[in-house]
Amino acid sequence: MHTLQEIQAIEQKCLLQTYARYPLLIERGKGVYVYDSGGKKYLDLVGGLGVNALGHAHPRIVKVIRDQAAKAIHLSNLYYNEYQGQLAAKLCQLSGLDRAFFSNSGTEAMEGALKLARAAGHKTSGDAKCKVVALAGSFHGRTFGALSMTGQDKYRSGFEPMLGGVEFVSLNDIAGLRAAVDEDTCAIVVEPIQGEGGVRECSREFLQAAREAADQHQAALIFDEIQCGLGRTGALFAFQHFGVTPDIVAIAKPLAGGIPLGAFLVREKFASALSTGKHGTTFGGGPLACRTALEYLAVIEEEKLLERVRAVGAYLNRELKALAAKSKIAREVRGIGMMQAMELAVPARAIVGRAMEEGVLINSTQDTVLRFLPPFILEEKHVDKGIRVLRRVLKEAAKN
Ligand code: PLP
Repeated sequence: MHTLQEIQAIEQKCLLQTYARYPLLIERGKGVYVYDSGGKKYLDLVGGLGVNALGHAHPRIVKVIRDQAAKAIHLSNLYYNEYQGQLAAKLCQLSGLDRAFFSNSGTEAMEGALKLARAAGHKTSGDAKCKVVALAGSFHGRTFGALSMTGQDKYRSGFEPMLGGVEFVSLNDIAGLRAAVDEDTCAIVVEPIQGEGGVRECSREFLQAAREAADQHQAALIFDEIQCGLGRTGALFAFQHFGVTPDIVAIAKPLAGGIPLGAFLVREKFASALSTGKHGTTFGGGPLACRTALEYLAVIEEEKLLERVRAVGAYLNRELKALAAKSKIAREVRGIGMMQAMELAVPARAIVGRAMEEGVLINSTQDTVLRFLPPFILEEKHVDKGIRVLRRVLKEAAKN
């Protein structure tokens, strides 16, 4: 095996330098822990940025991948496979929506959702019905469609022009939303909880207003649940937590236990806008990914992990709040379930680096926000360990 320094040298020479990596070479993971190349153990509160909801090397996920890989990893969408339809049926049953399309990533799920909303708009009201209303502070991905709906300059600048016809409103600004939506709007796009934006929740009233505006103007209400969905809030879909049902929901991250898989689910009313040949992908919906996703959903149900997310997530939130109350550099704690954040008065990256040295992986976003996206199998004793380390690191940072 190569050393961290050797890997860094190869990457420095041969990779596009698009990631600000921490100096850590992870070799393997088990449950809520990962291990570096020297065998040192780290509590993983990043969870692969929301992908590893079942932790690492979950025995049922490993078993199903092994079994399916020996049978068929990929089959073309020219033919049927055993699992794509079954997974669509399961997701429709769980969400109450009617049809699914499978992609390879969250970004592609959003691209597909946007194409569908445009096609549906054109079908009902002609080509002028193509405008999108999205939110400031949002993140939907890095391709041009997804980026055009992303309300943060840092991701967009240098790549203009974006797709036309996207108007941004502030988070929870109901009057602004109502003013922005009109008969030319084909989609309202919302993350019920903004993830990259710093774990910021939409209010129930705002989501209800978005539902009403979409109904009034025959626009598709699209929820991007790529980060907050599939159990992270303690409900399988975040929209179930908020009590507002979208026309389209995009999901990805943990769906296939770490195998790349995204999807959008859509109501019948909009679904027929994409007919044969109008959308597609080579990889999306392959048998390995879809069978593993069925296993993911089964594990969530059979191991009663939504209850765990609610209970341990609430404990994590309480412990973070207690810690913040005593820290000179913590400003606010916010979040639901296994999606929590602590806003700091100082840059977060150095804190993340120090916590890593002390054996706890945390992520930062928006410069001053510590973000926690732990696996759903987290227990209170793991929270206690994370808090102990964070307390020490915050204390140290407050002194400097
Ligand atoms: N939408 C949201 C809310 C996300 O958090 C992300 C990724 O972090 C994306 C879209 C993009 O997903 P992916 O990186 O799988 O393309």
